[in-house]
Amino acid sequence: MLKVTNITKSFGEFKAINKLSFEIKIGDVMGFLGPNGAGKTTSMRVITQFLKPDSGSVHINKININDDPIGSKSLIGYLPEGVPLYQDFSAYLYLKYVAEVRNLENVEEKIQNILLDLQLDDIKDVPIETLSKGYKRRVGLAQALIHDPKILILDEPTDGLDPLQKFEVRRLIKDLSKKKAIIISTHILDEVPEVCNKCLIINNGEKIFEGTPAQLKKRKGKNLDEVFRELVVTNEKIFEGTPAQLKKSKSKSKSKKSVKVFRGSPQ
Ligand code: ADP
Ligand code: MG
Repeated sequence: MLKVTNITKSFGEFKAINKLSFEIKIGDVMGFLGPNGAGKTTSMRVITQFLKPDSGSVHINKININDDPIGSKSLIGYLPEGVPLYQDFSAYLYLKYVAEVRNLENVEEKIQNILLDLQLDDIKDVPIETLSKGYKRRVGLAQALIHDPKILILDEPTDGLDPLQKFEVRRLIKDLSKKKAIIISTHILDEVPEVCNKCLIINNGEKIFEGTPAQLKKRKGKNLDEVFRELVVTNEKIFEGTPAQLKKSKSKSKSKKSVKVFRGSPQ
């Protein structure tokens, strides 16, 4: 369904993503993980055509998105980081605007359905700026879903939500996953086994792990936070920390070889 091949994106001299490749199909929910600045948002912006990569390609159903930019946009729904919404619009007007920009047919019916599906009907006429974070996020999801895209790209969809709101968003993602290919970037590792069947970790713009959440956890048999931290630290090639941390990391890590440089305080 979605195939990303060797995409590289630089900002000036700085390489934000380096030869990133992966593939997902309908039914997949891929957890896209990495520390802040790893390149998750940049990758998503390349896939959704907000940024042009320096090299590499993105194919949807075997068609290069450059050969059919409008067609491929109609197959993707995107919830950007932080969800920039038109705050003085109501949810209804905002969705109407999005539907018109997307040139959809049966706009009223589509808006009504999405408002009901996302339980936004009660608040559809109040200005977005007066809504809670959870509702705002759902309005963001509604604009990503209104054209019933086959691919859904969600940049930190649960970030900043309270536990109940997180639960609702996760449940929605699970429901949607049967008919879509979904990428969800997250910092919350607990979300990965809960909603994802695939997991891709990047660090410094490069892939450092690809597999199932179970495979990720099996690596060291610890909790996901520890496995994630260890992967990120050991693959950085530079270890920064105290001598005690170095010792601890070496005694735990199987991939000692990738810790090439140690920068720490002298004894
Ligand atoms: P993540 O979403 O994983 O936190 P980003 O993709 O936002 O990471 O950023 C990856 C790196 O690229 C960061 O170092 C960030 O500062 C840099 N970056 C992102 N967008 C730009 C830009 N428009 N101009 C310059 N640097 C950028
Ligand atoms: Mg980001």
